Amino acid sequence: LSDRLTAALQTLTRKGRLSDADIDATAREIRIALLEADVALGVVKTFIARIKERAKGAEVSQALNPAQQVVKIVNEELVGILGGETRRLNLAKNPPTVIMLAGLQGAGKTTLAGKLALWLKKQGHAPMLVACDLQRPNAVTQLQVVGERAGVVTFAPEPGNGVGDPVDVARRAIAEAKHAQHDVVVVDTAGRLGVDEELMKQAADIRDAVQPDETLFVVDAMIGQDAVTTAEAFRDGVGFSGVVLTKLDGDARGGAALSVREVTGQPILFASNGEKLEDFDTFHPDRMASRILGMGDVLTLIEQAEQAFDQDQAEQAAAKLSSGQLTLEDFLEQMLAVRKMGPIGNLLGMLPGAGQMKDQLAQVDDKHLDKLQAIIRGMTPAERDNPKMINGSRRLRIANGSGVTVREVNDLVNRFFEARKMMAQMAGRFGFGGGGGSKS
Ligand code: GDP
Ligand code: MG
Repeated sequence: LSDRLTAALQTLTRKGRLSDADIDATAREIRIALLEADVALGVVKTFIARIKERAKGAEVSQALNPAQQVVKIVNEELVGILGGETRRLNLAKNPPTVIMLAGLQGAGKTTLAGKLALWLKKQGHAPMLVACDLQRPNAVTQLQVVGERAGVVTFAPEPGNGVGDPVDVARRAIAEAKHAQHDVVVVDTAGRLGVDEELMKQAADIRDAVQPDETLFVVDAMIGQDAVTTAEAFRDGVGFSGVVLTKLDGDARGGAALSVREVTGQPILFASNGEKLEDFDTFHPDRMASRILGMGDVLTLIEQAEQAFDQDQAEQAAAKLSSGQLTLEDFLEQMLAVRKMGPIGNLLGMLPGAGQMKDQLAQVDDKHLDKLQAIIRGMTPAERDNPKMINGSRRLRIANGSGVTVREVNDLVNRFFEARKMMAQMAGRFGFGGGGGSKS
């Protein structure tokens, strides 16, 4: 696939705005990639439609060709859908926090119980495991074994009492957790090979008895296309507040992640990637996006291209600075680049001893920057290029056009000249730019 994409990347050339043809060509490749990753077909369709919509409005980046740019948009969108920043586990205000695990048999619930216990313990919690899978004879023992490995207490029905009632066990476990001051309780439940009503009812009964703060739907990443129906069944039958993907150490591309997330809207909190208790981590949307796309090398290329472009621009700007040829256009560009980094106030603290400039910059708040931006946008390209030509009548026109006073335009132009002079001096003093100085 990467080969095909690379070919597409080479054939497409730079234009002013992403064309439908550019977008369609790359969207086809993305569609194949998603289907290969086992994303459910319906999810692929809505996702592609959304990407096309977003890509249509996008201006062509100067650092990337259109195909790269579409891939970048897709990647961003994927990361966004998969959760942006990872959500944290919901902890109860009044302990114990109750975490209930639900999912099909073999999904990895019992294993996850041990992993979660170990992970919680490392964070200073005192977790307790609860065996509510009384369906299979050795399910309780399996939980006790992982509990022991994690070094935590497991609450289980006394042996020899026949098949116990999981709801009763759950209730008694919560009481015991309060008594023994366990601050987190992880409830393991029974699964079946397929979704069935009895299973759902039992899980719902346990849920009602323990009132979980988090119900985690545990899903095998290898499940592929079936992820949607399974997730819907658990959403409707039990309800859940988060998702855990297991068996990511396998070769599944992880399309299930996107399907489940899209269909249920619930965040993916953790990822399980092996049989050992340590094979466990919080979920990383960026890694998963890259895995689903299967275009790791392309994404790296895009990153490199953007970095190279940024550096190129910075060097050009530095050269212009030191030669005193900075234009208002550069000024605007620099300003926009700086603003991308966050509120201007935050940046001031980072400036290394730029003494007098710091004071000047301190007066510049974000609203003010909006205004400056508007003024520069109200100028013609020629004016931006050669600010000296901005005479009185031009200043009036610019002021009217951008909704400010002539004084504000004057202010900007004067400050610009001052800044240009000062920067050229500083550049000279610090010895960058100019006669093709050293590059790092
Ligand atoms: P449950 O039926 O949902 O409780 O699932 P189990 O916890 O019993 O797991 C079923 C099987 O999958 C066991 O053999 C586990 O060792 C294995 N398993 C669970 N999680 C993972 C994982 O992340 N990676 C791999 N490779 N195997 C796993
Ligand atoms: Mg189990």
